[in-house]
Amino acid sequence: MYQHVQAYAGDPILSLVETFQQDPRPNKISLAIGIYFDNDGKMPLPASVLAAEQQIGFGVKSYLPMEGHAGFRAEVAKLILGADNAALAQNRVAAVQTLGGSGALKLGADFIHRWFPQAKVYVSDPTWDNHRGIFEGAGFEVGTYPYYDAQTIGVKFDEMCDFFRRQPENTVVLLHPCCHNPTGVDLSAEQWDTVLNIVAERKLIPFMDIAYQGFGDTFESDAYAIRKAVALNLPLFASCSFSKNMSQYGQRVGALLVLAPTPEEAQLVLGQMKFSVRRIYSSPPAQGGLTAYHVLSNPELAAQWQAEVYEMRDRIRAMRQKLYDVLSARLPERDFSYFIKQRGMFSYTGLTVEQVHRLRDEFAIYVLDSGRLCVAGLNDGNIDMVADAMAAVFA
Ligand code: PMP
Repeated sequence: MYQHVQAYAGDPILSLVETFQQDPRPNKISLAIGIYFDNDGKMPLPASVLAAEQQIGFGVKSYLPMEGHAGFRAEVAKLILGADNAALAQNRVAAVQTLGGSGALKLGADFIHRWFPQAKVYVSDPTWDNHRGIFEGAGFEVGTYPYYDAQTIGVKFDEMCDFFRRQPENTVVLLHPCCHNPTGVDLSAEQWDTVLNIVAERKLIPFMDIAYQGFGDTFESDAYAIRKAVALNLPLFASCSFSKNMSQYGQRVGALLVLAPTPEEAQLVLGQMKFSVRRIYSSPPAQGGLTAYHVLSNPELAAQWQAEVYEMRDRIRAMRQKLYDVLSARLPERDFSYFIKQRGMFSYTGLTVEQVHRLRDEFAIYVLDSGRLCVAGLNDGNIDMVADAMAAVFA
């Protein structure tokens, strides 16, 4: 019956996690998966989020509407776009509660493919693998635009701009507003201004995926590119995720925002989003959406939550600094400053695939073959071992 069904090769990151779990070495360290761990190596639940969960309780929750909880949708729009954003007062933003950031990407991808069937999509080279997966799954041809420069461990900025200047109208460009996954290499505000002016001139469609708001710098500055796109009145799609910054991983909490030229068009977009949701999963999960709504809508909890996210951000920064200090002391001829310049949970370490395999085989330290390391997996208990092992393979 199913013999003609192709075998699934598996997801590279999740397969590596399985290999790690089967590794019998007691001193093994996983820095492969994108999860925030605290200094004890545990997945923390922010106290603000726990307080919200306790307020909601675990009683029966009815279905949410197709587009999700109205209060959640309004609060997320304010968090991402800024509470005083004129586009919100003008009712020009269609907002949908989604199944995590992945669900937001999928909903947006399906919508664009349905209504702009000629559009091509470009993702950064490299990007989070599933960006390609989700857009191809929606029927798009997906290409890459120049982004990461392995020579400088920075951005190929001129090449990226030239590439954007050559694209036809309605080409979708998938952008990471902050904490680029997998490289950790972000654009500066000035660079965003340049890129978004090109996007405006060429009439491209910017799809901004923000999964780490608050981990880069501040909630405001991490959303700089998104808010700039709104100020320029671009046909913006913004997908966001509360998996990391509210530890809602398994609850599946995210949102998709679409900026329309008029309130009437925003309603048309929202209507099609609801139609799409109805035909796939009908309505989003209630527990996580309500939790996030309670955190965001209560000024005290919201302030506490932001402070807790900044603590996570600062811990990640401290680990970056430590890595930089140890490696610079051990190999003074090499410049490791990229570790402290990169932002967010991930770092492109500059490790070659051979060096990555040596780390795994000789030291039981797991990073991705691309050299991506999850800085949030480092802690006071393992950082010395990791830094020493990295110095050994870099030498
Ligand atoms: N976008 C990026 C850049 C991500 O890193 C992730 C998750 N790792 C997602 C989207 C998906 O988010 P979620 O887990 O909430 O589906």
